Amino acid sequence: MQIDEAGYKRPRLNKAYQDQPIASSEATKTLNRSCPALTLDITPYKTKNYHPIWGEILEVLRGHAQDKEIRQAGSSGGVISALAEYCLKHKLVDGVIQIKACDQNPLENVAVISRSRQQIIASSGSRYAPASPAEAIRLVKSSTEKYLFVGKPCDVAAIRQLQKHDPHIKQGIPYLISFMCAGTPSITGTHQVLDQLNVSRQEIIGFRYRGDGWPGLTKATLKNGETRSMTYNESWGKVLNRHLQTRCKICPDGIGEFADIVCADGWEGDEKGYPSFEEQDGHSLILLRTEKGRELLRNAESDAVVKVESFDAQNIFAIQPFQYYRRTTILPRLLAMKALMLKIPSYKGFELSRSMKEIGFYQSFKAFTGLLVRRKKIKRSQLKTA
Ligand SMILES: Cc1cc2nc3c(=O)[nH]c(=O)nc-3n(C[C@H](O)[C@H](O)[C@H](O)COP(=O)(O)OP(=O)(O)OC[C@H]3O[C@@H](n4cnc5c(N)ncnc54)[C@H](O)[C@@H]3O)c2cc1C
Repeated sequence: MQIDEAGYKRPRLNKAYQDQPIASSEATKTLNRSCPALTLDITPYKTKNYHPIWGEILEVLRGHAQDKEIRQAGSSGGVISALAEYCLKHKLVDGVIQIKACDQNPLENVAVISRSRQQIIASSGSRYAPASPAEAIRLVKSSTEKYLFVGKPCDVAAIRQLQKHDPHIKQGIPYLISFMCAGTPSITGTHQVLDQLNVSRQEIIGFRYRGDGWPGLTKATLKNGETRSMTYNESWGKVLNRHLQTRCKICPDGIGEFADIVCADGWEGDEKGYPSFEEQDGHSLILLRTEKGRELLRNAESDAVVKVESFDAQNIFAIQPFQYYRRTTILPRLLAMKALMLKIPSYKGFELSRSMKEIGFYQSFKAFTGLLVRRKKIKRSQLKTA
């Protein structure tokens, strides 16, 4: 996986394969059935309780890691890192597949297998830039060890869909944990954050998008020991979220439907219910999606690894308004893309027409025409530059 000119990670064929006919190879067939950019099929993982906005949910909780260091380091309440450490400690897995900032280049995200508490803490926090934990799959292929896999909903969907066709990957990865995702910004977004902090890329030895508090600061550490920072609201809200890749804007699965457990920010709303980004002790929203996920979380709770309380599923909307809006407007956006004869991924089982009904005709029409107008503008500006 390599960053392309637009600043997103894209697959490149290894040299050894470049001269081979690949279209009919087994690897290509498996890729076509598993890659979330091409296809997402949630049908095998649904029951009659399926919720048209939030997917399959056994329980909704709000809570945090009991370990103070992990809670502080984590992006929200540190629940993902706490569960990862629990899995290692109790030998449920041999390693945790996750991403972290590269030691040599803190702007690059690398896939790693963590085997200790220190490595898990070093990988904690959200990284709002291209990252591909599924790259570590090649190590699973040649190993008999067991792993917990942590990734964005698309990373986890790729592994879950691959597991259907590859029993070795199914055995090797017994747990999949994800987090809600509003989309991946290009690396250009990060470069613009650095520009606003008045820092050159060569000067930095560390870069965090958030975490180390909740939501925590976006912070660049310079070679001379100085730090420069801005708030999460400034970095994500004013820069990074303007660089999301197109596929993320039509993603029906920002909510991690293929995972055993999904975490998100457990914001407390203001009087209008809008999430507050005031600095405070971290809280995670936790969606338990499978029995295996529920067992893991409840065992970790019994061992005082996480502290949780029930959360009313009706209130998810108030703290995740973006996820609600995107999910309910996917279908009109897809229809607009079809009208423009653009290629769209195949989505099965997401009940998108049911979710569209939630927002009604006016909002659906707005989403449909909004996409048409934006696309036309892009085309016109491309014509001008050409
Ligand atoms: C691109 C992006 C978009 C997000 N959008 C939302 C959203 O819309 N709503 C919301 O509530 N939360 C969103 N989050 C998630 C949120 O910031 C927290 O990560 C989540 O609540 C888990 O918190 P935690 O404290 O349990 O995680 P931690 O204990 O801090 O663990 C985080 C884990 O995520 C992994 N990780 C971090 N960045 C990436 C990445 N880019 N790709 C793959 N793995 C990664 C880390 O390696 C680590 O294992 C987003 C995060 C990212 C990276």
